[in-house]
This record gives sequence, C-alpha cells and structure tokens, in this order.
Amino acid sequence: MSNLFVRSDVTEATRGIEGRVPSWVEAELAMLAGPIPDAPVGPHCSAPYECPFMARCWPALPPDHVGTLYATRRRALELNEQGYRTIHDLPVDVSLHPQVTGLLAPSVDSESSWLADWLLNKSL
Ligand code: SF4
Repeated sequence: MSNLFVRSDVTEATRGIEGRVPSWVEAELAMLAGPIPDAPVGPHCSAPYECPFMARCWPALPPDHVGTLYATRRRALELNEQGYRTIHDLPVDVSLHPQVTGLLAPSVDSESSWLADWLLNKSL
C-alpha cells in the first residue's frame, strides 16, 4: 500500500481550520441522531447502485406486494403509490408486463385468487 500513498505532514497547512473541526463533528453527530429525512423512496434508491440505507428507509413489504410480480420494479412503485399494495388489490384491467397480465387475469380482483397465491409460492 505504501506505493499508493504519500505520507505528508499537513499539520501546519490545517492549523487555520483546526478549531472548527469539533463543531463540524458535533453537527454531523446531531444530524445522525436526528430523524430520518422526509424523502420519498423510489427508483433513485437502487440506481445507479443500491443505497446502503434501503433497509432503513423502505418499509417492510408484505410477501404478496405488487413488487414481487415479474418485471414490475418501476411499475410496482407506481401501483403502490396508487394504493395497490398487494397482488390481491390489483384490478383485472391493470396494465402489467404481458407475461404477468396473462397469468393473473383470472385471479386478481376475485374472491378465489388461487393463482396469485400459487405465484407467490413460486417466489417470482
Ligand atoms: S434508501 Fe437511500 S436513496 Fe432511498 S430514500 Fe433512503 S437514503 Fe435516500
């Protein structure tokens, strides 16, 4: 590693800001101890890479959440915002990936949603 870094004494160069460092640290610690920012979750949480705070910000989702459907990542966010939280909440005419629509058509919005249950058990 020593070939990647250069050791240099910057003590004199940083004397001018030395006195401000404790207040910076206190401000950062206060921020970390404060409430979670009121920022909506969304596609920005996983693009261009997965945010390390996903577990904290994203609510626990039910096992039949609309996001468990095939190829519905962005669409699931829209559906969730529209109040369709689970597969069972989806109306028959909902627009989804063609493969999913074909599979769910007989099951959604009905008393007997056996197909949705079957799909969930298959861990889509
Ligand atoms: S998961 Fe990350 S990007 Fe998404 S709201 Fe939380 S902190 Fe922001």
